Amino acid sequence: MTAQVIDGRAVAQAVRIELRERTRRLRARGIVPGLAVLIVGDDPASAVYVRQKTRACEEVGVHAEVHAFPADVAQAVVVQRIRELNDDPRIHGMIVQLPLPAHLEIRPILESIAVAKDVDGFHLYNVGALVIGHGDSVFPPCTPYGVMRLLEHAGIAIEGQNAVVVGASNIVGKPMGLMLLQRGATVSICHIKTRDLAQFTVLADILVVAAGCPNLIRPDMVKPGAVVIDVGINRLPDGRVVGDVDFASVKDKAGFITPVPGGVGPMTVAMLIRNTVRAAERVAGSIEPDEVEEALSGEP
Ligand code: NAD
Repeated sequence: MTAQVIDGRAVAQAVRIELRERTRRLRARGIVPGLAVLIVGDDPASAVYVRQKTRACEEVGVHAEVHAFPADVAQAVVVQRIRELNDDPRIHGMIVQLPLPAHLEIRPILESIAVAKDVDGFHLYNVGALVIGHGDSVFPPCTPYGVMRLLEHAGIAIEGQNAVVVGASNIVGKPMGLMLLQRGATVSICHIKTRDLAQFTVLADILVVAAGCPNLIRPDMVKPGAVVIDVGINRLPDGRVVGDVDFASVKDKAGFITPVPGGVGPMTVAMLIRNTVRAAERVAGSIEPDEVEEALSGEP
């Protein structure tokens, strides 16, 4: 069996076309959706991600502005800028590019973002809303939400399936598990302390891998016909970018698979813009349904 490759670039492009139209309608009413991106220090990978985000915003007609700070900036300076942006009516969404330098305390910084502008979905309120299935009041975190949209697009049933998430971070693994749970999957979340990872992954109908380990998932760890979603982004010493799944061999065993690059990554950026447009629609009092309607409400 050769897996069907889910083309994240194509799905993200379709989402951006939909968002461009929604942005056009907002602009016609005098509202230009605006995103502020705060970045601290000069981490090259972060700089690349910020450029990808601002460029994609411009393509859709969303205003994007970057607020850059030196690596040794004081916590109070960052928080003060966030407060100013909270009060700025041109800005509908705000994100802080992670990781931050070690001297900065991440939680107070994220909690100083107004809930209504927290388009990364990392504020405690939005995290809590996701846990209890508060559906539309929440900005779903972009990467796991992008995975959900990919699954929907590929027509993959989630209810009743065994889903295994490898990785338990606050920004990917945990919210990913919650979203799959809310859609009725039976979820296991594995992590670095999981004993015998393969014992879990072989049971997965849907396997989402977000560990940051090249070639962690090999064919013997995958159930035949499984849906394998690779969130990992790893830069090898030779400059190649690979995921966490050994794509070349696992694609002969899986039913569906996402490539790296060109799988989840483009969806993360598209979902950030989607959340920003939705934030602006909320201000405008006219939330438009997404083409693929999300179902993050309730309990299974
Ligand atoms: P993280 O380092 O915060 O968390 C990694 C998680 O994986 C942890 O829970 C850890 O316990 C687990 N883990 C690590 N090694 C493991 C192993 N050998 N076996 C089992 N579990 C293991 O990372 P993160 O921020 O969640 O990101 C994970 C990966 O996803 C990274 O490669 C990152 O670059 C990538 N990422 C991609 C996107 C995207 O848009 N595609 C977005 C965010 C992160």
